[in-house]
Amino acid sequence: MLNKIITEENIQKSKKLVDKYDKFIIVTHASPDGDALGSSLALYHFLLEYGKQANVIVPNEFPDFLRWMPGANDVVVAERNLSVAAELLEAAELLFLLDFNALKRIDQLEPLVLKSPTSKILIDHHLDPEINCNITISHPEISSTSELIFRFICRMGFFDFLNKSCAECIYTGMMTDTGAFTFNSNSPAIYYIISELLHKGIDKDAIYSRIYSKYSTRRIRMQGYVLYKKMKIFKEYNTSLITLNYEDHLRFNSQKGDTEGFVNIPLSIEKIIFSAFIREEKGVIRISLRSKGNFPTNHFAKEVFNGGGHLNASGGEFFGNLDDAVKLFEEALPRYKHLLI
Ligand code: 5GP
Ligand code: MN
Repeated sequence: MLNKIITEENIQKSKKLVDKYDKFIIVTHASPDGDALGSSLALYHFLLEYGKQANVIVPNEFPDFLRWMPGANDVVVAERNLSVAAELLEAAELLFLLDFNALKRIDQLEPLVLKSPTSKILIDHHLDPEINCNITISHPEISSTSELIFRFICRMGFFDFLNKSCAECIYTGMMTDTGAFTFNSNSPAIYYIISELLHKGIDKDAIYSRIYSKYSTRRIRMQGYVLYKKMKIFKEYNTSLITLNYEDHLRFNSQKGDTEGFVNIPLSIEKIIFSAFIREEKGVIRISLRSKGNFPTNHFAKEVFNGGGHLNASGGEFFGNLDDAVKLFEEALPRYKHLLI
């Protein structure tokens, strides 16, 4: 049996709303990752199986390696189809907000969600949710929103409506938010849930391969270049930094998602416990931070780049040039020395 994480009150209140309404909209954060899309599509498959109408809306495009996910082709991408997204939101009877804690993370959907009078249920695992919802199911101690969706469905007593497609989506989110069960993954409950998902018929080895063995030649060449030429090691801080400028993107004709995961690679170097990836994107410098152990990337992201995230994976933005962002990063390191050595 699974330990109870979500409060009984939240489960009973949610179940009432799920039974009462017919038209559900699920919204997740911009640049949807495996857990954002996994949790959203999992809930979508459950709702359909339970006889409801449901749609998933994402602010912008998701990476190609998630395209295989069951239901991915039905997802409404607001960036391409804002009027459809707006109509769906207007007709919704209940909104689910999944895998984000602040409305700024849904970009152009923010005003639409804000003005919607519909009841809202937030299910998320980021710290300090700032969204005003009728029901807030926020559990930062759980490693993925997809795991919360499994728990949510089961606790409402609907395990039988959790079909194979739903199970595949849950597994994808649990896997991607734990680096294929290499961090935030010591909870025995995770493996109990995986066992249940296997009983639903998922092929976990195939899912791994669909996510992690999908790189283009272009990306692998870019990775080689980045590690050889663009990675700086700060030995005295057990830290690494990868930078990528606009010329680098041009040189490799990089496509969306090509740089995904670069930030994790330096953590496989002995002693490196903090890895940063700072890159020039359209009109903004984006920062990704990862760590091993207890180094709080979320504190660093918040203090230095006005960002946030989890202990071991965070991000932020910087409006200015790449060199200034790198300077900010390098100047901050001494302040964190006591946590790095
Ligand atoms: P990534 O490096 O994959 O872009 O982001 C890793 C994690 O950091 C995300 O899952 C999210 O929790 C958090 N994050 C990324 N960018 C931002 C940001 O600009 N603001 C905040 N508050 N969190 C972010
Ligand atoms: Mn997540």
